[in-house]
Amino acid sequence: MILTVFTDSKRLSQCQSCGALITFAELLSGKTMPFNGRAVGKEHASLLQSPRDVEDIDTTKYPSHFATCPQARHHRRGRPERR
Ligand SMILES: [Zn+2]
Repeated sequence: MILTVFTDSKRLSQCQSCGALITFAELLSGKTMPFNGRAVGKEHASLLQSPRDVEDIDTTKYPSHFATCPQARHHRRGRPERR
């Protein structure tokens, strides 16, 4: 699947559950997605409805971390972790 994200919204982070390197990026829909690793997409010209640069992320190379995180159930519960 190809997901189009805003290039200026990308930021590297770490999963708070498993510590994996992830790239947060804002989708055209406004939702933020964590991609596995340092996600690099194919940049292309701005869309007519937006002056911001966008790029296409290939989710076969950079899957959503929600789908692959070994601690995924923590994401869904959204509960603070006990330490
Ligand atoms: Zn994780």
